[in-house]
Amino acid sequence: MKPYILQQTNWKQVKSENYEIALIPWGATEPHNYHLPYGTDTLETTKIAETAAGKAWEKNAKVMVLPTIPFGVQNPGQIELPFCLHVPPSTQTILFADLVNALHNQGIKKIVLLNGHGGNDFKPMIREIQAEYSDAFIGLMEWFKLIDIKDHFEDAGDHAGEMETSLIQYLFPELVLPLEEAGDGKAKTFKLKALKEKSAWTPRNWSKVSEDTGVGNPKKATPEKGKIYFELITDIIAEFLIELAASDLNDLYE
Ligand SMILES: [Zn+2]
Repeated sequence: MKPYILQQTNWKQVKSENYEIALIPWGATEPHNYHLPYGTDTLETTKIAETAAGKAWEKNAKVMVLPTIPFGVQNPGQIELPFCLHVPPSTQTILFADLVNALHNQGIKKIVLLNGHGGNDFKPMIREIQAEYSDAFIGLMEWFKLIDIKDHFEDAGDHAGEMETSLIQYLFPELVLPLEEAGDGKAKTFKLKALKEKSAWTPRNWSKVSEDTGVGNPKKATPEKGKIYFELITDIIAEFLIELAASDLNDLYE
């Protein structure tokens, strides 16, 4: 029973503590190549949030991890696959606004979103809601962008590749199929130069890009690589939570 995980804790604990930060993990529910669970983004983001909050709690940061939101924004071509649960950004914004409103009414003014899914583009949503709560801090961390993945994985991949496979092998070994059963995550690129070089952007049609739904080869994944990466990113998140918990929201600039 951890006092920083809302799903596990109780009113007796909450009543006696002054919580500073609400940490909201946000994932997705979608196919992840053949070998990883649909819940990959939700499962890994939950573990990352809980572990980071635990590290921060040890240093006296009063943070509460809220239940992970499992509904993400998906790409065309993936939306059609069975049980790929797409919700549009407008729905995410309504839900998030309701959560911020509830927390703000309870006096919790430091709210941090932990994003674990590339299709979730939360900055516009935060800008929209922040404007209504001038005395609140609404922050965003995207764990998959915190350190250069290429320093830790040979073929990190965008989706269900070596990085994500290593993380799930480490955190939920019982939920990964043997790597022989995984597809190679081979992905096509755009023909158009600007799209290929990323000077222009449009969502990729997933079923035209990848046959197995993966983008990135998972074959070199190991739980050891997952553990090292997990420790590094949870340290970075914990450090931010510690600093934020101790901060005066009226004095954030130097
Ligand atoms: Zn994922």
